[in-house]
Amino acid sequence: MDCFSLLRARMNGLWLERDFSFAAHTSIGCGGIAAACARPADAAELCKLLAFLGREAVPYCFLGAGNNVLPADGFFDGVVICFSRMNGIASDGLGIVCGAGVSAGKLLRFAEERGIGGLEFLTGIPASVGGAAVMNAGVREGHLADVVFTVTGIQNGEIREFSREECKFSEKYSIFQGGIAVTGVYLRGTRSTAEEIRKKRQDFSEKRKRLPKGKSMGCVFVNPAGMSAGALIEDCGLKGLRVGNAYVSEAHANFIINGGAASAEIEALISMVKERVFRKTGILLREEIKRIPNP
Ligand SMILES: Cc1cc2nc3c(=O)[nH]c(=O)nc-3n(C[C@H](O)[C@H](O)[C@H](O)COP(=O)(O)OP(=O)(O)OC[C@H]3O[C@@H](n4cnc5c(N)ncnc54)[C@H](O)[C@@H]3O)c2cc1C
Repeated sequence: MDCFSLLRARMNGLWLERDFSFAAHTSIGCGGIAAACARPADAAELCKLLAFLGREAVPYCFLGAGNNVLPADGFFDGVVICFSRMNGIASDGLGIVCGAGVSAGKLLRFAEERGIGGLEFLTGIPASVGGAAVMNAGVREGHLADVVFTVTGIQNGEIREFSREECKFSEKYSIFQGGIAVTGVYLRGTRSTAEEIRKKRQDFSEKRKRLPKGKSMGCVFVNPAGMSAGALIEDCGLKGLRVGNAYVSEAHANFIINGGAASAEIEALISMVKERVFRKTGILLREEIKRIPNP
């Protein structure tokens, strides 16, 4: 039995889709098809699903809003687990509790309406809150780690809470990159006013206008300590470097733009950039982007 039919038969009430297109659900807009996509309603249902997939040895991967991933080409005979139905949001004073599937935009509007400040740095970052926690999303002025109080996740079949220290946040990293499902995040903001928040958000939006247009994953490489990966790539003369229909952006060298390429071409371009930067500078760039399904 294929994995979609298996889930349909055995996981009563689970939201399921057949033949899930990675290209249609990611910002880079390429990649193949997965046999099934499951959208659990809450942490308890996801916990049951993970236990079932483990018992049946069905491969799976997690997908947030799909903005920092490079999906593989071809057919994935497994399940993509999406968090879009875990989209509840509520506040208690300056605290905001939200499901992993809440978009950064929805979170920002919610905070602004209630005069909860401190999250404005998220303006314009395309993300689900879960994906933002996994990646410790942010900009120079702030990162998710700065506003997280606790994260709820599923580890070894149990729903549990992780304190900020346990999340082990650092540059583009959290403990959740090791396969723990993030189901919700509890954030703490600061007292502000809607007007003040709006003004700060406008300033952040303004800065983001310089970012390249086109299909991308945002920054491909993590900045090496004290350096800008984009500047390194640019200094190596690699702006505009191309493999097929994938090319290094002329506007920002840490962005790869998909002009109709397959994932394999983007992979080849990533390898080429790494190799040329290494040959010229001795610095080995590390990818920020994640491959799905997980290698
Ligand atoms: C145009 C553009 C601009 C960007 N600008 C920025 C920026 O300024 N700053 C910045 O930090 N990032 C930026 N990014 C990258 C991206 O927005 C962030 O990394 C964001 O946090 C990704 O969130 P997502 O929900 O899309 O996660 P996805 O891309 O869907 O997933 C990222 C990783 O997290 C895993 N994952 C997702 N959700 C969960 C979950 N609930 N539980 C467990 N694992 C999960 C996935 O398997 C994958 O490994 C940009 C991207 C684009 C396309």
